[in-house]
Amino acid sequence: MSAASAPYDVIIVGAGLGGGIAAGLLAAAGQRVLILERGRDLRYRDIPTDHLRHHRLSLYGDNTTLDPAGHPRVFVDPAGRARTVLPHEADYNNNALTVGGGARVWGMQAWRFHPDDFRMASRYGTPVGSSLADWPISYADLAPFYERAEHEIGVAGDHASTRYAPRERAYPLPPVPLSPTGAWLARGADTLGWSHFTPPLAVNTVPYHGRAACVQCRQCIGFACPTDARNGSHNTLLPRALATRRCTLVTRAHVARVITDAAGRATGVEYFAPTAPDSAQTARRTAHAKTIILAGGAIETARLLLLSASPQHPHGLGNHSDHVGRHLQGHYYPVVSGLLPPGVENPNLGPGVCLATTQFNHGNPGVIGGAMLANDFVKLPIIFWRSHLPPDLPRWGLANKRAMRDLYLRGIDLRGPVQEIPSPDSRVTLDPTVRDRFGLPVARLSGTTHPETVRTAEFIRARAEEWLRAAGAERVWSSPMDLHLSASQHQAGTARLAADPRDGVTDPFGRVHGHDNLWITDGSLHVTNGGFNPALTIMALAFRAAEKILRQ
Ligand SMILES: Cc1cc2nc3c(=O)[nH]c(=O)nc-3n(C[C@H](O)[C@H](O)[C@H](O)COP(=O)(O)OP(=O)(O)OC[C@H]3O[C@@H](n4cnc5c(N)ncnc54)[C@H](O)[C@@H]3O)c2cc1C
Repeated sequence: MSAASAPYDVIIVGAGLGGGIAAGLLAAAGQRVLILERGRDLRYRDIPTDHLRHHRLSLYGDNTTLDPAGHPRVFVDPAGRARTVLPHEADYNNNALTVGGGARVWGMQAWRFHPDDFRMASRYGTPVGSSLADWPISYADLAPFYERAEHEIGVAGDHASTRYAPRERAYPLPPVPLSPTGAWLARGADTLGWSHFTPPLAVNTVPYHGRAACVQCRQCIGFACPTDARNGSHNTLLPRALATRRCTLVTRAHVARVITDAAGRATGVEYFAPTAPDSAQTARRTAHAKTIILAGGAIETARLLLLSASPQHPHGLGNHSDHVGRHLQGHYYPVVSGLLPPGVENPNLGPGVCLATTQFNHGNPGVIGGAMLANDFVKLPIIFWRSHLPPDLPRWGLANKRAMRDLYLRGIDLRGPVQEIPSPDSRVTLDPTVRDRFGLPVARLSGTTHPETVRTAEFIRARAEEWLRAAGAERVWSSPMDLHLSASQHQAGTARLAADPRDGVTDPFGRVHGHDNLWITDGSLHVTNGGFNPALTIMALAFRAAEKILRQ
């Protein structure tokens, strides 16, 4: 209650990756900040390690969602059939709902986008039916903020990454070690004449910022880190914000709408929060500030803009040109599996990813864009059983048991986040009937990405097969890609940056067009999502937006 009545300069919706960064910068600069986060502030011991309920395999639930039944979404499949989905179901397109957001349990790949990722339409044209566009900023505009994110969050990397993205300063942490599988893959890439290096990961390979180094445990991606070596805003910028005593974090606080005045200025937010710390009962509250920042992730930020419709803005905030919620994208992920030859063993130690090539991000004949390719994260036995056994093996019985024993340490997978060609029909809208526990219309996800994406993904799948074969894999297998909506954990694009208000939702810094003091610092801003994991770009944009807010 006191949080709501105190005077604030800034309210931030969502204490995830982008929201935590904005909080850190603004509080350090003297701003009084209120962060409203709908999840809880989970300690290591609060995030269960059940192999069937976590963020990489959420068969029966996940390990961060509070009250899953109270937060459904509606998913519409490509045939137009709508159904209600819960957070642990694949079509929900979930990220972790907790302080830290997705980065509380992420795989930590912290890539800069390629310079050409910012000028996709100029380089490839705009395919009919797609919404492929250039960013209103260039790689050079973002480079200083990439560097800042790498140093303030903590990224371990190999300077050879300058091969695709120029950089001035070395990474603050040495790269993750090359495993025997990584060395084997490197020899395969050499045979093909492909460049390769150790991918950048936001992990403490040595102690950094007062926290310990990674111990390479086997329960990595999808779980909390036992040594707190996994870096995100939750253990860097956010604690720094709270330490200033100018920042208040309220958890289990679900923001329902942004309040605007007749002139379009955001004056505050309405939110639901428990009536007492451990109470299941909630009450509707309001809080006011001079600046409002939305950082709820690409799906929930779009939903919030739409939920905040007013008589002056009947279609939602920032939705003057009907872009809010459109261009929803993630990455297509072709996965190619293989069996290592005798004598090469996959130690399956965390984080697991240790060799990548950016040979195919651009310049691929006949297709648009491409992807970085790398070996996969450390794999739980149940994930190996479920998705990576050779397709002709029986799923049960003695033969399967033998295969699990004999092949688990011989499995190898390559995967690559294929840059999507966005479609305006891949979108978030408000569902007309289904409501969440607060009575608010839930996000309705519909459409597919553009078909050109499938062609690029098939090209990348073929390159991954070629790599495993050249390295000497005993067997190689994979499945063809199909057209679908893929927002998922890399969700982006629903409030894209644009210099001209007719082309997007925010200005080139992330300020919502038409609303001077309303900002966004999450994946919604991405015009395109690069052929790389997106989080470092989300962070760089958040640093840039927060600096701009302070300058004015
Ligand atoms: C298992 C896993 C592995 C991943 N691996 C990688 C990787 O290796 N590399 C990479 O680049 N990315 C990875 N990601 C994705 C990455 O975590 C996300 O891209 C990133 O966290 C998105 O940042 P964001 O600021 O847009 O949103 P988030 O970090 O998702 O934060 C949004 C926050 O807002 C809160 N919120 C939403 N709506 C409301 C509301 N109405 N009121 C109050 N609070 C609200 C949410 O609870 C959440 O905490 C991974 C994600 C997962 C789950």
